[in-house]
Amino acid sequence: MKNLLNLIFPPRCAVCGEVLTLEEQKGVLCKKCGEELPYFSENICPHCGGETNNAGFCEFCVKAYAFDSACAAFPYETVRDAIHLFKYDGDKRIGHGLGEVMAEYLLKYHEELLVKTDVMVSVPLHPKKEKYRGFNQTHILCEKISEKTGLIFEKQALGRKRETIAQSELNPEERKMNLRDAFIAKKDFAGKRILLVDDIFTTGTTCNECAKELYRAGAKEVMVFSLSAAGTE
Ligand SMILES: [Zn+2]
Ligand SMILES: [Zn+2]
Repeated sequence: MKNLLNLIFPPRCAVCGEVLTLEEQKGVLCKKCGEELPYFSENICPHCGGETNNAGFCEFCVKAYAFDSACAAFPYETVRDAIHLFKYDGDKRIGHGLGEVMAEYLLKYHEELLVKTDVMVSVPLHPKKEKYRGFNQTHILCEKISEKTGLIFEKQALGRKRETIAQSELNPEERKMNLRDAFIAKKDFAGKRILLVDDIFTTGTTCNECAKELYRAGAKEVMVFSLSAAGTE
């Protein structure tokens, strides 16, 4: 059955969409993309596109939020199709591949985060949404990152207190109201340095609210790491 499906829907590169060769099908990227991944490298802030020197958000952007630092592996456009296949079509193989390249990004550009982090936490979905989708996409990314880097992943560390409207349907002001006090820390994070992982960083409201809750639970430092950043809209 799987082979037949492969003929009709041959596995494609998660970044450029090229049909993968048999050899390439061991992963989710074509050879070319695997060799030169379009990471956000040094000198570009993933949020405003401004200049930075640390392969993360510039000082100006970080100041606008509660968390201490932030970085993203890819511009949203380059992984949009892959994210859709993963999140909405439930292709977990692509999720594993994306988790793998996130781990590689940390190893390549942010060894300091790997050294500093005590525990990795993911942005929670509302339980209803997770049930509907059958999985939490960020959990899958985190599990792969943990496997590749050795970071400890606390799966149930953050929860949602109440249901919220999809952020994409709201303007920035409404987004803030929608998520105010929506999250709850289920553990004591006293003195911990936390790597907070999400899939898409758009306005940053979700990560910001999660970070505030983690500080309430005692966190010493919250560092955001997302698969992609959509930049300023
Ligand atoms: Zn490709
Ligand atoms: Zn910036």
